[in-house]
Order: sequence, then structure tokens, then C-alpha cells
Amino acid sequence: MAISDILRRPLISNPYPREFEFMPSVPQASRRNVIRGALVVGVAGAAGGGALLTANLAQAENDAKAKAPEIFSCEDWGARPGSGSQLSNKPTKIVIHHTASANQSDTSKQAAFKLAKDVQSWHMDGNGWSDTGNNFTISRGGFIMEGRHTSLKHLNDGKGWVQSAHAPGANSDGIGIENEGTYTDGLPPKELWNALVQFCAHACKQFGIAPKEIYGHRDFSSTACPGEAFYAKLPQLRKDVEAALNGDGGGGGDDAWTAVVDNGDKDVKRGEGWKLSAYSADKHGKDYAFAEPGNGGGLVEFTVTIPKDGTYTVSTWYAANKGYNPKAPYTVHAGGTDKAVTVDQTAKGGQWVSLGDYKLKKGKQKLVSVGHKTTGKGYVIADAIQVKAKK
Ligand SMILES: [Zn+2]
Repeated sequence: MAISDILRRPLISNPYPREFEFMPSVPQASRRNVIRGALVVGVAGAAGGGALLTANLAQAENDAKAKAPEIFSCEDWGARPGSGSQLSNKPTKIVIHHTASANQSDTSKQAAFKLAKDVQSWHMDGNGWSDTGNNFTISRGGFIMEGRHTSLKHLNDGKGWVQSAHAPGANSDGIGIENEGTYTDGLPPKELWNALVQFCAHACKQFGIAPKEIYGHRDFSSTACPGEAFYAKLPQLRKDVEAALNGDGGGGGDDAWTAVVDNGDKDVKRGEGWKLSAYSADKHGKDYAFAEPGNGGGLVEFTVTIPKDGTYTVSTWYAANKGYNPKAPYTVHAGGTDKAVTVDQTAKGGQWVSLGDYKLKKGKQKLVSVGHKTTGKGYVIADAIQVKAKK
């Protein structure tokens, strides 16, 4: 008796009795996830599969690019007919799920197609929905498949969307992605992570969605989904997607080396006078550092490891506000010389703003400092920097 066969079936009845009825059936939804999660973890643990190393994520970051990934359509994997009402508005966010099924070791395309069929069956036969609830499914082998019919057409067009059923509160404007496995403890395998980064970057580009608009299912409902460990990695996912987007430049195929350092990263030093805030929606990562302007010498110092001698574009990201500082004092420490750059933080927030091109030597180095010693009025912001190799 395959325990995994039992797990493939919904253990508890559908928490959302009618597909488009967004009732807050919180206790049931939550219970279902917890129970399925717990059982599956036991199975995966016994099989010795599934545990994945954080180290892989760094590698995945370098592997991922914003090129259009290969996506298998409903036709490709042999979906049953379904129906969904089309919407005129395009999606504004991405919602990450895990299937809460076994962390199986079969990473073949066949296994992926079977997964897509299983998911459709759980949703149509188990939950009584009209079609697969989520828009896309990604297997542990990294195969990306269309879920709900017409999701791929909308993605390719970059307009319109299809009413879905994956996260009440985000079903009409969220791209729902089911990732195969249970990630309560372990993380997705590298193949899945790479495919997810690539897919999200592509979707962000197609619909103009900012990487910070990537959420976990639990941000909308009381559920364990996408699992404690995976959920904790969503900041990394947003960062990887952003790097993939920046590495692409819109044309596809540009794989220039890029590094992003956020104020929250462990190598960043925060000196006297700086505090943290999550107030501005323009922020990079979960927060940013801010300081009163004045004579104080406290710095926020960003350290980067440069892969080889060469020319790099150094950029900064900050939360902007009309009341912030028009003369934020940055210093770029390039090749032994310090170059002062003044940044107007009253405008151009929430994007990469170039601090110039610099010749940099290979190795780990303190590259950018932000101070708050300035005659400009208003808070000075230190949020993130990006370093990108010039071709
Ligand atoms: Zn979910």
C-alpha cells in the first residue's frame, strides 16, 4: 500500500465549498494543511528525500535568468477540459503554494505531468472545482506546467487573467503557483527553485509586477502553506527574481553577473544614528535604514564580493518621499579611491538608480557607504545596492 497514494487524495473535504465563494473557512483550511503536512513529512523523512541545502539557493541565484522558461500547456500534459471565467484585468501579484504532497524523488517529465493531472483531480474530483485551482504547477524536477486553462495564454499575452481558486483574496488578481512537495522543514530542490525564479521573473516582466509582490498563501489565509521553511525563504525568492530581472535587461539572454545587497543582509554594518523602518512601500526587502541629517558620522556600509577584476555599474535602491533628503551622501570605495556621490532621495524611489561605473578588483570589499552628514533636509535612507558587471 503506497502511503503516498493516500496522501495524493484530499484527506479532508474542500475548505471552500463552492469555488468562487470566498468564505473565511479558516479553521478547516488550517487543519487540513497541518494534518497533510505532518503526514507527508513523515513519509518524506522515511524515504530520505527532500532535504535541501540552503547553499543550493545561492547557486540557484546565479543560474536563474529572466528568459522565458519552457512551460508545458494543459494540452501538453493532457489536462481534462475545464472552464474558468476570464477577467479583463491583469494580475498584480504572485502567490506561492506547496502541494503538501510527498517530496518524491522522481524528477522526470513523466512524473511532472502525472503531478499536474493529480492536482487537477484533487481540485475537480476532491474539491468539486471546475478545473485546476492554481494557475501553474512546478515539479521537483523543475518542470513548469499550466494549471488552470488559459493561464498560459494570458501569461504569453501579458494581459487579462482567469478567475482561479488557490487563495481567497488573491484569486482574481494573483498568479497561483503550486510547488510540488512539503516544505515545513526542508526547502525545495535546486531544480524547482531555479524554475520558480525563472518563472516569477518572466511573469513579473510580462505583467509589470514588482518582485516585492510575491507572497505566500499564508499571507491571505490561515494556513501553513507554503510551509514554514519555504515561507521563510520568500525574501530570498524576491531577491533572486529581482536579480534575474535585472540580469535580463528586457531582451532575454543577458547573463551579466549581478549582486544585490540589502540593508538587512548580515554583512551590512549600521553605524551611529541609523534606525530601521518598514514604512515606505518603495522599500527593498523588509525594511530600510534611515537617519536624521546632521553632523553625525555614522555610516551604513555595504560589502560585496566581486568575482573578477572588471568594470561594474553600482546602483542604489531607496524608499523615496518628498520629505526625504535631496542630498543623501553616498561614497563608492572603488579600487582604493573614494568617490562621493550625492543622491536626491525625494524622487525615483523603488528602483535602481546608478551611482556610476567603476573599475573594481576581485574579492570581498566594503563598496558603498551611506552617511547622514549633509546640509540637505529630511531623513537619509540606506536601503540596498546592486553591482552589475559591464559587458
Ligand atoms: Zn496554498
